[in-house]
Amino acid sequence: MKLHLDDAELVACVGCGLCLPHCPTYRVTGEEIASPRGRIAAMRAIVDERAPLNASFVAAMDACIQCRACEAACPSGVQFGHLMEDTRAALAPQRSRRRRAVEWVGYRALLPNRRVLGFATRATAIGQRLRLVPKRFGLPPLPLRAPETLTADAAPDAYLFTGCVMDAWQRDTHRAALRVMRATNARVGLPDAGADCCGALHVHAGRYDDAVRLAGRVISAFPGDAPIVVDSAGCGAALLDYGRLLDTEAARQFSARVVDFSTWLVSRQLTLTPSDTVVVVQDPCHLRHVQHAHEPVAAGLRAGYDVRTTADDGLCCGAGGAYSAFQPELSEAVRARKVAAIRAAAGGVATFVVASANPGCAMHLAAAGLDVRHPAELLEARLGND
Ligand code: SF4
Ligand code: SF4
Repeated sequence: MKLHLDDAELVACVGCGLCLPHCPTYRVTGEEIASPRGRIAAMRAIVDERAPLNASFVAAMDACIQCRACEAACPSGVQFGHLMEDTRAALAPQRSRRRRAVEWVGYRALLPNRRVLGFATRATAIGQRLRLVPKRFGLPPLPLRAPETLTADAAPDAYLFTGCVMDAWQRDTHRAALRVMRATNARVGLPDAGADCCGALHVHAGRYDDAVRLAGRVISAFPGDAPIVVDSAGCGAALLDYGRLLDTEAARQFSARVVDFSTWLVSRQLTLTPSDTVVVVQDPCHLRHVQHAHEPVAAGLRAGYDVRTTADDGLCCGAGGAYSAFQPELSEAVRARKVAAIRAAAGGVATFVVASANPGCAMHLAAAGLDVRHPAELLEARLGND
C-alpha cells in the first residue's frame, strides 16, 4: 500500500517544532510520534520507503484528532489537515472487517439518510430510557418523538444549513438560530431535499468518494446565491472546503456563499437584554483553526452576558467527530485539560454556562458535567427588549 500525499505539502515541514505546544495529543502524551512533526516525519518515511507501513504507523495516525491546531500555528504553512485526510484515505481499505462494518453503518446507512437516522435516533432513545445504552458512549438524552418540522421563508435573504446528527438530535438549536436570524429581519430559507449530510466525518475518515457524492447533493439543495449560514463549526469547515474536494467552479461558488452563524450576525442588527450570567466561550477547532471565525461568537454574546474566554489558545476538547468513540482514553485525557481551562476562565463562580458552536464539542463537554449551550440558544434567550 502507498500513501498518495502531495509532495509539496509533505516537504513544507521544516521540523521547527513550533506546532508542538498546540497539539493536544502531544500535550497529553509528551511523545514525538503523537505530535504533528512526528506524524509528518512518519508519513515522509513511508512515502520515501524508509519505513514499513505497520501497526505503529496506523496507531499514530489514528491518534490524531484532526483538530488542525498545528496548521494554524505553523509558520511554514504546512497543510496538515490535507496530509492527514489523504493518509486516512489510503488507510481506509486496510481497516479490520469489524471497523469497516461499523463505519459502513455510520457513514453509509445512517448519516446520509435523514429517515434512517431519525428511526435510529428514536430506537436509541428507547434504549436510553430502558438503560440499555452505556453512559460511556457520551450520548445526550435523545428525543423519543420526531422533532417538530422547521419552517422556511419564501425568497430567502439567507439559508440555514441543517445537516444530519445536529438536525436529528439538536433541532431546537436550529430553531433558535432561525429565530435569531429572523429577529434581524432576515427571511431564512431551508435546504431542498438532499442536503442530509455535509460529509465532514466522511472526509475525516478518508472516505472521499462518499464525501464527494454528499457534497454534490448538498450543492444542488441550495438554489440561488443567498448566503448559506451554518451553525455547526464542523459542517461549516467542510462546506467551505467543497471547492478543493470537488475541484469544480460550481463547488467553489457554493463555498463562497458559506458563512458561520456568528460571523453572519456581525453585519446584522440584534438587540439583546443584558444579564449577569457568566458564559465561557469554547472555541471549536473547526471554527478557530480552520475557519478563523471564532471571535464573533464572544463578540455577539457580550451584549447579553458576562462573557469569559479560555487562556489556552483554543486547545482542542477531544471530541473530534467520531474520535471520542474510537479513542476514548486519549479523548478523555484531552477533555480533562479543556474542562480545567474552562473552569479557570469562569473564575470560580458557582454557576456558569459554556457556549459551544459545534454539536460534537457540546456533547463531549456536556458528558463531563458542564452546562453547554449553542450560541444561538444563548442569544435567543436574551432576545427582545432594550
Ligand atoms: S508542521 Fe510547521 S510548525 Fe510543525 S514542525 Fe513542521 S514546519 Fe514546524
Ligand atoms: S491535527 Fe491536532 S491532534 Fe493532529 S497533529 Fe495537528 S494539532 Fe495534533
